[in-house]
Amino acid sequence: MNNINLAKQINQQFPVELVKFLQLAGVTAAGLQQRLFLVGGVVRDLLLERPNLDLDLVVEGDAIRLAEEMARLETGKVIARSRFNTAKIRWERWTVDIAAARAESYTQPGALPSIQSFCDIQNDLIRRDFSVNAMAIYLDPPRFGELIDRYEGQADLKRGLIRVLHDKSFQDDATRIWRAVRYEQRLNFKIEDHTLELIKRDIDYLETISGDRLRGELELCLEEEKPEKSLQRADDLGILAKLHPDLKFGESSARFFVKARGRLEPFSIPEEFELALLVYGFTPEHLTEFNVLLKIPKSVALVLQETLQLKNELPTLAEKGLTDGAVYRLLHRFQQTAILVNLLAASSYAAKKRMELYLAKLQHVRTFLNGRDLMSMGITAGPRVKETLELLLEARLDGRAKTREEEIEMVKKVG
Ligand code: ATP
Repeated sequence: MNNINLAKQINQQFPVELVKFLQLAGVTAAGLQQRLFLVGGVVRDLLLERPNLDLDLVVEGDAIRLAEEMARLETGKVIARSRFNTAKIRWERWTVDIAAARAESYTQPGALPSIQSFCDIQNDLIRRDFSVNAMAIYLDPPRFGELIDRYEGQADLKRGLIRVLHDKSFQDDATRIWRAVRYEQRLNFKIEDHTLELIKRDIDYLETISGDRLRGELELCLEEEKPEKSLQRADDLGILAKLHPDLKFGESSARFFVKARGRLEPFSIPEEFELALLVYGFTPEHLTEFNVLLKIPKSVALVLQETLQLKNELPTLAEKGLTDGAVYRLLHRFQQTAILVNLLAASSYAAKKRMELYLAKLQHVRTFLNGRDLMSMGITAGPRVKETLELLLEARLDGRAKTREEEIEMVKKVG
């Protein structure tokens, strides 16, 4: 199976400018006596004929020097360099990552790997997560396009399998458990039987992963085209419960994701919206624990809290005889996302109708008088102005003040 050449696929699947970039990069690396490779997900997707222009290059040598040399030769620009010998180069409208081939070691489970040494491509590929992601393509002439596939990556692509390279893989880095689920669901593959056994054996290693990294994995999952597939699989395998023991993702949650996507198309669902759907079944206490564990940013945590607070208010919102002013009073303190999530997930028809009314009409109604008018009428600047405006707005919504003059009368009464 080895020694196949993918130059033709590169020409067919990449834009001309990127093909030119790869060829020039290979020649430049050769000029520096270094071998250069295309690696990882882009090789996988090239073989699967899936669009992917997220190029990762690995050089057996000095990545920064190569990037600088490329920028000197052509109009490219080095936009980032790191002390780990990696560089980012902007080329036309693309960004390409270049890293030095490296071996890694794990000092303790869950910790980020420490770079052991710079090495050749074979040792760089050993540290990778799955066989389908552990292939590389030569870019330096005369081997341009030649595939390196030491771990039966091509065979696994054909069989539709996600398979780790060794039995300690998930112990070294349990985030790979999330990665396995994402690739499996994205590509419609299956996690290979033995790999699945290893996930079950090593699932507790997810507890060794920091909140930041877990949140990162969850975010990547939510960025998938159909996140509900990965979330459901993660629930089935007990992976979701490692984020919080009470986190569940059943069929109804999956339906909400599909529904939300349908409503928002062609736009993608904002991440905080998806997170709010995910935690919709939580109690406020569980949500607080979840926010702390995953270090959810404050602004997002607030949306999640408001979503649950509004869920709690839904019975009131569904009560008979509620005036438009009362609906406004109840809903205007909630952020739009919290309302939209409840609109999607709530079961009460009456509450839904009122949220729709609020979003379509009530939130846009304005009073005749403004803050300046109130102050010129003697209301002291500060919270009183806001309170009075709210009072006027509710009166307007309820039909108790239909004109500017009626509003002035009301202010005189309350002032
Ligand atoms: P995607 O299409 O999701 O971006 P990708 O394969 O490009 O997929 P990246 O997260 O960008 O994924 O990682 C690039 C490559 O780095 C992977 O293909 C894999 O070879 C390697 N890699 C990334 N994360 C890990 C990890 N946690 N453990 C081992 N190898 C990893």
